[in-house]
Amino acid sequence: MKLGVIGGKLGHSCSPAIHEKLFKILHEQTQHQYGLLEMDRNDIPNELQRLNAEHYTGMNVTIPYKLDVMPFLTDISREARIIGAVNTIHITDKGCFGYNTDYSGFGRSLDHAGIAVSGKNCVVLGTGGAARAIMQYLADHGAASMTVVSRCPHRKPDFDTFSHHVDAELINYAELSRRKRADVLINCTPVGMFPDVDSSPITEELTARYPAVVDLIYNPKDTKILQYAKKHGAVTLNGMYMLVAQAIGSEEIWMGRHIESSVIEQIAKEMEHYYD
Ligand code: NAP
Repeated sequence: MKLGVIGGKLGHSCSPAIHEKLFKILHEQTQHQYGLLEMDRNDIPNELQRLNAEHYTGMNVTIPYKLDVMPFLTDISREARIIGAVNTIHITDKGCFGYNTDYSGFGRSLDHAGIAVSGKNCVVLGTGGAARAIMQYLADHGAASMTVVSRCPHRKPDFDTFSHHVDAELINYAELSRRKRADVLINCTPVGMFPDVDSSPITEELTARYPAVVDLIYNPKDTKILQYAKKHGAVTLNGMYMLVAQAIGSEEIWMGRHIESSVIEQIAKEMEHYYD
């Protein structure tokens, strides 16, 4: 299969490394190739046509094009449509189809870490594409309540459209600091991501209120907020397992078969030191 990742600047992408590890484990290195497909936003429709003509089977889509590709697809899965972001495109003889495997990748990473969300009070930091995928997952998997924290909760037209599908309370950071503890905190902002490694979206004092803390960031593997959480005895999870699981979710769509969790575990372990 001809595969790749679509994005603006992809120099630091670790996607090829993850997919190549999978091909190796499956002994299918010679059958597939996974490349970096950099393009300008304005070229997306032409590039999609070119990739189709060149017999590509599928592409991942990364920031900032997860929304931009949507108008050019034949159909979009339920999750991706509700979330409003596509991270996987499958090209078939019936057209180009869009999916969101961040949703299932997040779920697989929670299962791996033993973090339950059913019946739990959850707090989500950020209102972007990743936050929407996580909120949809929490809503579909029985979270008791969902509080979403934004720097400007009153200026979120995209989010308002999405939030009709889920029951969530949108507050600002000042309000969060007045709230009591909740069960699970999930950072869906880029705060703390390399090279901004000394920043945290919330203070240590606030982080200490949550017994389980998930950060979607995978570089560095121990972000400031996860360091705070560990110091106070919380169960923690970084974004690497989710990153690998969403990549494997895409491969399952392209290959049309299930891939065992043990494969995700093996690749996630190998990727742990990728950015060291
Ligand atoms: P995004 O669309 O840019 O959204 C990020 C959100 O974070 C924004 O909507 C914003 O919400 C908030 N934010 C941005 N800058 C901030 C700042 N300086 N301080 C506080 N809040 C800020 O990005 P995304 O696609 O949702 O991705 C978010 C993070 O998740 C990134 O670090 C990305 O790498 C990671 N991610 C990881 C995976 C994985 O597989 N592990 C998958 C997807 C994304 P407000 O304006 O409402 O405050």
